[in-house]
Amino acid sequence: MGHGWHGVALRLLRGKDFTFTVRSNERVSPQLHRLGFADGGMLEASGVHPTMWVRLWFEHRGRPHQRGYTLVDPDPGAGTFAIEFVLHPGAASDWARTARPGDTIEATLQGTGFSLPQPLPSRLLIVGGPASRPAVNSLLESMPSVPATVWFEGADPAQDGGDPRRAAPGYEVVRVPGRGDGALLVEAVRSGLPGLLDEGAYVWIACDTATTRTLAAFVRKDLGVPKERLHAFGYWRVEQAQRAAAGRT
Ligand SMILES: Cc1cc2nc3c(=O)[nH]c(=O)nc-3n(C[C@H](O)[C@H](O)[C@H](O)COP(=O)(O)OP(=O)(O)OC[C@H]3O[C@@H](n4cnc5c(N)ncnc54)[C@H](O)[C@@H]3O)c2cc1C
Repeated sequence: MGHGWHGVALRLLRGKDFTFTVRSNERVSPQLHRLGFADGGMLEASGVHPTMWVRLWFEHRGRPHQRGYTLVDPDPGAGTFAIEFVLHPGAASDWARTARPGDTIEATLQGTGFSLPQPLPSRLLIVGGPASRPAVNSLLESMPSVPATVWFEGADPAQDGGDPRRAAPGYEVVRVPGRGDGALLVEAVRSGLPGLLDEGAYVWIACDTATTRTLAAFVRKDLGVPKERLHAFGYWRVEQAQRAAAGRT
């Protein structure tokens, strides 16, 4: 399968292409499916950083369909990593559900990158959900001594695979039910985050695109957090119809 104009654009941006091979598949919980991969030489060439992600190429109705996924437990020595797919109706999700050892998928490495804030923050204030849990986990691991609060969208840990993990003290997860439009998450962050903010805090936001934009504007404009202390990136899109239906409930 060709990658269409999007693939051409990524190549112009110096994206590098690799082929991953599925090594294992495991249903972690009703909504979470984990696949192990051989990396096709990527990790040795690229190195590893917290929140590292790749663009995977799926096929959807005969057309290329590219989606971002985060590397879990990347091991450059072994040339392996895993990906944890949140299951919902979607082409990427559907591919993951049925993938078997030996299946392959094409990937482009472009756009990822993250440097630890220096000096280390006084506190991590993180907003995410199941799709960004692997990134949140890697962020927490990269700054083990920094106290952290995570607002996590999802009502049921048994369904969605559980809270972002951390053993260290000074760690709190605020579970917020997802209604489909991010409104409850916005409300929870708006009321809880300002009281935890100090000059050294670092804010990291990755939920659905519209909610991410709303919260990033709140943190930047209303709370005056400088841009080097804020990272915000939308991870998935809520369809208009879903958002409208959520607003009516
Ligand atoms: C940098 C980055 C890293 C990411 N890492 C991961 C990861 O490690 N694991 C992971 O599962 N996802 C991750 N995502 C999110 C993933 O790319 C999206 O969820 C993507 O839309 C899934 O594609 P799809 O083809 O299955 O569904 P799409 O065709 O994009 O959407 C189909 C339908 O599913 C809904 N939908 C899509 N995603 C979700 C979701 N997460 N929750 C609920 N409904 C959804 C849409 O609103 C739409 O109605 C990441 C995204 C980015 C940008």
